[in-house]
Amino acid sequence: MSEPNGLAAERTVLGLARPYAARLTGAAALAAGTDLAGLGLMATATWLLITAAGQPPITALTVAIVAVRALAISRGVLRYGERLAGHDAVLRMLTDVRARIFGTLATAPPDPKRQPARSGDTLSRLVSDVDAVQDLVIRVVVPGVAAIAVGGLAAVGVAAVAPAAALALVAGWLVAGAALPATAVAVARRHALAVAPLRGELAADAIDLTHGAADLAAFGATRRAWEVATTRIARLAGVERRLAATGSAIDGAGTLVAGLTTGAVVVVALRAGVSGVTVGVLAVATLAAVESALALVAAARRWAEIRGALRRVADLLATPTPAMDGDPAADRRLPERATLALRGVSVRYRAGGLRALDGVDLTIPPGRRIAVVGPSGAGKSTLAAALARAVPTDEGELTYGGAAVSAYPVESWHRAVGGLFADAHVFHASVRDNLLLGRADAIEPELDAACAAAGLLDWVREQPDGWDTVVGEDGGQLSGGQRQRLALARALVAAPAVLILDEPTEGLDPAAADRVLADAVAAGHDRGVLLITHRLRGLADFDEILVMDSGRIIQRGRPAEVREEPGWFRDQWLLQDAAERGYFRV
Ligand code: ADP
Repeated sequence: MSEPNGLAAERTVLGLARPYAARLTGAAALAAGTDLAGLGLMATATWLLITAAGQPPITALTVAIVAVRALAISRGVLRYGERLAGHDAVLRMLTDVRARIFGTLATAPPDPKRQPARSGDTLSRLVSDVDAVQDLVIRVVVPGVAAIAVGGLAAVGVAAVAPAAALALVAGWLVAGAALPATAVAVARRHALAVAPLRGELAADAIDLTHGAADLAAFGATRRAWEVATTRIARLAGVERRLAATGSAIDGAGTLVAGLTTGAVVVVALRAGVSGVTVGVLAVATLAAVESALALVAAARRWAEIRGALRRVADLLATPTPAMDGDPAADRRLPERATLALRGVSVRYRAGGLRALDGVDLTIPPGRRIAVVGPSGAGKSTLAAALARAVPTDEGELTYGGAAVSAYPVESWHRAVGGLFADAHVFHASVRDNLLLGRADAIEPELDAACAAAGLLDWVREQPDGWDTVVGEDGGQLSGGQRQRLALARALVAAPAVLILDEPTEGLDPAAADRVLADAVAAGHDRGVLLITHRLRGLADFDEILVMDSGRIIQRGRPAEVREEPGWFRDQWLLQDAAERGYFRV
């Protein structure tokens, strides 16, 4: 990550603007032109008013009158051109940024530091982070360049008439265009430090109050939670009010600086013996130049707000993607069916942390059925994630068809290893669309077979809308069991070479669980199956049972062997068997 005060993130992001440099330079020139037209308009109009007061012949005023009209019209036209050129360039640039970032997210191995990157919250933050790139160009760089150009030209213009007055203008411009923006940045930074944690806590309060409303009411805790949130809102509002007051003070100071600078220019110009009319023109031009510098205060404020977003975007842009690295092996063809093997594979979620997977050896040839069991936290889901290349491995090697898996593009890896993972998400879409997410080209008989194996087909047929039944947000319109069956059916439709089933029968009653498991495993007869389960019944037909604990495989063998050996499996099996036979009934 770039250090907070450097401009590395801005440089990385603006590096992507290089192909559009001509358009952006045009936009900055047009922005400067707009400000200069405004400045010229004010100066010419002032000259016109003062000169007209002396009642000269109209012909003496004609050029100025035409100039005023031309400048007034050109200001609007230039502003329009600036917006058009600037947005044209920045929207093209954003397309590149989005493509690069989505490429990174889709293909780079996940970074454990960015694990939550899969959550909706982080996704929406990412979308607004990318929009910050637009603001950097349109609201910071373009107006900044324009203000500096206008200030410089105004100073040169004033210096041509009265060099000492130009010094006063430059001094005022530096206060308005440098000191005040720096103050605005410092204030915004302090504000962000105070507000960010409050906003985060308030968001958590809002989630608790909405999603946890039923539980809060059940425990009579609604009022308390509401009071906590209200207190936080009041504190946030207090901080916001203080920021608004400081912001207004900075804006007021800007207006004051413009007035004082103008006054100083007038005094210095009069002392230098400049004529009255010219002094009037200089005064108005100074006012316009300093006011255009005040645009830098708004630009600086916006810049301070978006810096965090720019750093996150720059970090993502700096993450190499396999495709971008031009790895020659990256397009190696993925075999339809092949043996997946792990040798001494370890996974750590944090550098220096405990191993969630510790030296695991495993071979999954086509057709082999393996059940993975063990206590919670043993590393079962991590094993599935490592096979799916959803977490990077720390040590050891993972091969498919004899080649290291890094030889195969990550984006097509779901055809090798896929299935039903822990916390599978069901989408707010029809049953058919949820299933087709498994494999877009699946045909209706395949959907039928998958739903039949998952025990969902009868339900689908009973629905008035059949396959087009919409299942609600995260399957909210389904029962827990139906939701689980739909997720399982989607995994079966996907038909990868190695089918992972992480607790596929969770939420189903024991009889249904046995049936669904048998059907699901039979549906994958020609591929490897890795079943993760707490339920130890129904595993008799499996080829191998792995018992895991603390990231290691502590026991392995055929079901009959494992059941006979003293240890975790036998103890649990006896307990579950007794429970299901009703020995513990009270
Ligand atoms: P199981 O599936 O057997 O219940 P897991 O594979 O989920 O076990 O977890 C194994 C270990 O890894 C646990 O100690 C767990 O706390 C840790 N772990 C799992 N997922 C993460 C994660 N995303 N970040 C950090 N630690 C994790």
